[in-house]
Amino acid sequence: MLFDPARIEVLYSEEELKKIVNGLAEKINEYYSPITDEITAVCILKGSVHFYSDLLKRLNLKVRYNFVHVSSYSGASTTGRIRVKTWVDESVTNRYVLLVEDIVDTGGTLRYIINYIWKQKPADVKLVSLFEKTIHDHGVKIDFTGEKIGDQFIVGYGLDYEEVCRNLPYVGYLKGE
Ligand code: 5GP
Ligand code: MG
Ligand code: MG
Repeated sequence: MLFDPARIEVLYSEEELKKIVNGLAEKINEYYSPITDEITAVCILKGSVHFYSDLLKRLNLKVRYNFVHVSSYSGASTTGRIRVKTWVDESVTNRYVLLVEDIVDTGGTLRYIINYIWKQKPADVKLVSLFEKTIHDHGVKIDFTGEKIGDQFIVGYGLDYEEVCRNLPYVGYLKGE
């Protein structure tokens, strides 16, 4: 199907997203300021790319950039069969790790990532997610949550519809889906 922007109903405008991201940055700055001046921020590709970039610019900390890209084998996400495409390129042992996720749905990919990060004995691991779907009991502790949404498939600001729509500056849903 051809992508038609007219089919997108805006849920969060560019302005609204900026406010949400700034609010999260404030809370994250408050959390870290008494404990460390340097963190390792892990971008969970690809959906978190814009959120990661905008959020980190608002942190008054030294930030080490790291990227992970994992994918679930189709139909097997609940069995934990995950394929790693890119992994952090430096040790996180003794580091303050902030995982940056676009949206938590079933939590399958995050449980895998968190488990592996902890094996490296970091000083601390925290998770920030711009969105959280409340339809599943995903079992993941989100330390900083932007917005909770229902059973909707959202696109834009990094979130894709069949690998496109990520560059939309707003977040919306496809009408009629
Ligand atoms: P999980 O089910 O493992 O929590 O979600 C894995 C990934 O699926 C999310 O990080 C996100 O990239 C993608 N995903 C989950 N819900 C949505 C959605 O509503 N829209 C889009 N575009 N991607 C989603
Ligand atoms: Mg993601
Ligand atoms: Mg996707």
